[in-house]
Parts: sequence; structure tokens; C-alpha cells
Amino acid sequence: MKLKTRIILVSCGMVVIVSLITNFISWYFMKKSLRNEAVSNAYSSAINQYKELFNRIEVNDEYIQYYLNKSKNEYIACIKHKGDNGFNEELEEIYNHTVFTVEQLKDMVEGKGYKVKKNKELEYINLNYGGRKYMVFIGESNVYYTLQFEDITYIEKKIWDFRIVSISATGVLLIATVLILWRILDRTLLPLQELNENTRKIARGVYSARIETDRKDEIGQLGENFNKMAEAVEMYIANLKESEKNKTIFMGNLTHELKTPLTAISGYSQTLLNVKLSEEDEREALTYIYEECGKLERLSKKMIRLLELEENNTLDMCEESIDEIFKRAVMSCRYMLKEKNISIDIINTIHNSTITCDMDLMTEVIINLIDNSIKASSADSKIILRYTGETIEVQDYGIGIPKEEKDKILEPFYMVDKSRSRKKGGAGLGLSLVALIVRKHNMVLDIETELGKGTVFKINIS
Ligand code: ADP
Repeated sequence: MKLKTRIILVSCGMVVIVSLITNFISWYFMKKSLRNEAVSNAYSSAINQYKELFNRIEVNDEYIQYYLNKSKNEYIACIKHKGDNGFNEELEEIYNHTVFTVEQLKDMVEGKGYKVKKNKELEYINLNYGGRKYMVFIGESNVYYTLQFEDITYIEKKIWDFRIVSISATGVLLIATVLILWRILDRTLLPLQELNENTRKIARGVYSARIETDRKDEIGQLGENFNKMAEAVEMYIANLKESEKNKTIFMGNLTHELKTPLTAISGYSQTLLNVKLSEEDEREALTYIYEECGKLERLSKKMIRLLELEENNTLDMCEESIDEIFKRAVMSCRYMLKEKNISIDIINTIHNSTITCDMDLMTEVIINLIDNSIKASSADSKIILRYTGETIEVQDYGIGIPKEEKDKILEPFYMVDKSRSRKKGGAGLGLSLVALIVRKHNMVLDIETELGKGTVFKINIS
């Protein structure tokens, strides 16, 4: 059963129960008060009649007949004991303006088949006759009995009228409840229906599904939270896909990078095994094999380094001197620098400057950047290492990087000029390593470059 139907049914059930309880209580009190009122009215009329009749010194049959005739009461009777002493069991009719026989009236007086009740001075019985209800007040004086019939059918009618009105009011209340609830629930549950549809969409893989809501209540908050969750799921899935794609590209590139030197090694080895070569050719073949092995070694070292860094989340963070980092990096690159006669200028205006970093890793970053700058620069050129307080910079005046390639060079195995880079012993992993280390330090790497003029790698440390 739908939530809306259930809420409406439960509410209607509650309305019916509450209305019935209220109705029963009010019917009960109304009946009681009307009855009391009727009894008191009927009683006062009956007692007046009784007093008029019997509050005199001499009461006889003629007087009673005369008086009752005069009063023109349609529902009154008077009976008396037969005999002179007046206390015979037999009763005779003095006056009868009712439809009942003297025997029936006698039964009423004696309470045969009736429950006799008493109200103040007079006894009375309740009588149902001809579809109407009566209270019969029995007055007794000496040998006489008067029976005055008071019609109280109107009480039942009043009660029924009241019942019809209150049941109709319950019906109207029920219809109003259904209509109001229907409207409110339609509005309230709309975001829940949307939520339901959108969760189904997400389950089917449509991660862009969102809920439109401007409500500020709990349901609005639920919608907002759902949107946040859907956004997180969408981002997570996109990242997963991206990382899956990157892995495939990475594996493809790695295979390619391995294939080239391996093919060369296998080719030269086969030639050495099968062909009789001159000493000079033999030496040349062995040199090629040696060089290709060197490439494979460098590649595997960088790969291992990358994997180690990806997995290792703990950096040995300390307050380190910038000058010391620069000094160590330059020492490492001194032979390459000397080979191309490239000079290094260190510009650091801040005395005793330090940064919080992992010394070895930060030095590795600078070495990689200097290495790239040397490769990109012509002989007798210059490289600048700069510390500004906010950035550590490595600047060269080399070939620069084409604008469209600037963002790609951080990807593993990406090389702007593949044959040139390979010749210089590169495999396109150096900058991936740099980017990874910088990211692990929560720093940002920026590249400013102009083709033919040079490049500046900036590590933003703040
Ligand atoms: P490699 O190990 O081949 O040097 P990197 O990841 O370090 O690989 O660099 C990727 C590519 O980015 C290089 O092949 C080169 O084409 C380009 N590059 C890197 N640094 C510079 C630079 N300072 N000037 C010009 N090109 C550069």
C-alpha cells in the first residue's frame, strides 16, 4: 500500500474514532438532560393537576369527572376502588380519556409488567404505545388513582435529529480531512517520489540524477543531502573511470617503453649469436645492448620510485634549509651541468630561509627539474634556482614547451619530442614523479613557458 493511502486511511480512522467517541458522549449527555427536562416538565404538570384535584376537603366522583372534563386533558384517567369502604381489590373507572381499559390501567397502577419509578411525590412508569413514548404519572389519594399520560416522543425525535446532524458533521469532517490531506501529502511527498525515481536512475547508472527542491523543511534537507550524495557518487565514479583509463594508458605506455629496448637487445644478441662479426661491429653491438639495458634500468628505477611514493603516505617532514636543498641538488647535477657548460644562479634574498618538507624528496624534485632544464637548454646556457618566500623556482632559457602540451607533460610517459627525449635517456616519468611529490607536500606546481625562450617551474609552498 502506498504511503499516501496509508496516511489518509489512518487519519480517516482516527477522525472516525474521535468523532464517534465525541458523538456517543454528547448523545449520552443530551439524552440525559432532555429526559431530565421532560421528567421535570411532565412532573410539574402532573403534580399541579393532582393538587388541583385532591387539595380540597371534599373529593367525590362527580367533582373529579367535572374537573377533568373541564381540564380537557386528552390523556388522563381516574380509577377508584370499588365498594363502600373503598378498599376492595376491584377497581372501577371514574374518568377515562385514554385508549386503555380499566384492567390495563389497573396493571399500570399495580406495576404489573412495568417498572415503577418515583420522582419526588409521584410514581411513574415508562410506556411505549402506538410507536410513541409516554411517562405515566400515577397520583394516589384516598381511594382514587389518577393516571396522567405525558407524551415524551419528542425527546427521541430530538435525539435522532441531533444524531443525524452529528453524523453528517462527521461525514463532512471526513471528506474535508481526505481532501486537505490529499493536497498536503501530494505537495509533501512529491520530493520523496522524485527521490525514489532518482535513486532508481542512479542504480541504473545515471549518476547525473538530481532533485529540484526549494523547501527548507526535513524533506527539503533530505533532497539536498541526496543531491550531495549523488554528486559525491558521480565524482567518485568519474574518478574511478579516470583512474581506470589512466591505468590502461599507463600500462600501454609502459609496454611500449619496455618493448623498444627489449627488441633492440634481442636483435643485437641474436646477431652476436648467429653472425660472425668483426671485432669493431661486435663491440658496437655490445655497446647498444649495454645502452638499452641502461635505459631499462633507469626506467625500472623510476617506476619503482613512483610506485613506492604512490603507496607511501608518510613523509619525513622537517624544517629544512632552502640553501641546503639547492646545494644538494646542484651537487647531484654537477657532471651533467659541466658536460654542457651550463651555469647555475641561486637567487635567495631571504636569509636562513627554511620550509617544512621531506628533504630527500624535495631535493629529488629539484634534481629532476634541473635535469629537464639541462636537457632543454643549449650549451653554455644558464639555469636559475630561485626562492621568493612563496615559491621555489627552476628557470631555464631552453626550447620551452608548446602551450597545448603544457598540461600533458605531467602525465606518465608523456614526452614532447619522443625520439629526442629517449635519446637523452628520458622515459617521460620525471615530471610525474615531481608532480606526485609536490602533491604529497600539499604544494602546487605551476609551469610558465614560452616556446624558444624557456620555462619556469614554480612550486607554490604556501
Ligand atoms: P623525461 O624523463 O623524458 O625527461 P619528464 O616527465 O621529466 O620526462 O618530462 C616530460 C617531457 O616534458 C619531456 O620529454 C620534455 O619534452 C618536456 N619538458 C620537461 N621539462 C622541460 C623543460 N624545462 N623545457 C622543455 N621541455 C621540458
